[in-house]
Order: sequence, then C-alpha cells, then structure tokens
Amino acid sequence: MVAKKSRPKAVPGETLEMNSPCGKIYVTMNDNPDTGDLMELFVRFGKSGTCGSLVANALTIITSYGLRSGMDVTDAIKGLIGHGCHRAPVCDGDENITSCVDAIGRAIRIHVGLEPEVEEQDIDQQEEVLS
Ligand SMILES: [Zn+2]
Repeated sequence: MVAKKSRPKAVPGETLEMNSPCGKIYVTMNDNPDTGDLMELFVRFGKSGTCGSLVANALTIITSYGLRSGMDVTDAIKGLIGHGCHRAPVCDGDENITSCVDAIGRAIRIHVGLEPEVEEQDIDQQEEVLS
C-alpha cells in the first residue's frame, strides 16, 4: 500500500461546469504542483441540483484518496463514467451525460485531456467481465 501523499498548502486547478440529469454541477480538479498529476477533486451541485449529492461528494473524496495513493487516473475515469440514473440523459457539448457521477468522470477526462473512445471501449470490456 502506497502512503497517501500529503496535501501542499496551495494547489493549482480548474473548475468545470457540467450539465447533468441532476442539474448543473461544478467539478473542481486540482493538480499536484510538483508532478502536474490530478490529485483531488470536489463536486458542487448548482441550485437545481437534486440528486443524492452526498453520494457524489463521497465518491469525489474516495477518488481523491485513490489518486493521492497512486491510482491511475484512467481507472478513476472508468469507474465513474457510464453510470445511468432514473433521470433522462442530458447533453453537455456533444456528449450524452447519463448521471451526475457520469458528469464527474467526464469532467476528469476533459481535465486530463484524454479522448472519449479509449475508456468507453474499456467500460464495455469491463461490463463483459462483470456480467
Ligand atoms: Zn445525480
């Protein structure tokens, strides 16, 4: 088990506004100033945010712990993208957002600059393994 890296006092990052079936969400992603790797994320729901934001918040905390302990960011994206909830999907740019958790995964993907196809293929493979 790799020790979780301690957090520097100040870290650079960005906040993406994402559409989701649960309303607008704001995903803040901060990078380790030494390595440039994503090290933590937070989610904030807009005024119309209705979903169990408690769950989404908890997921970002766990994901942050994982990232700071050496988890590959592509695994974080794979774990979050693709989950659908009971609400109808919405569009964000040219992408279909299936839940607030899906939106968080897509925000990370945008932040680290990965292409969509790669991990969506992997998700299909993962589902085959799981089923
Ligand atoms: Zn939601």
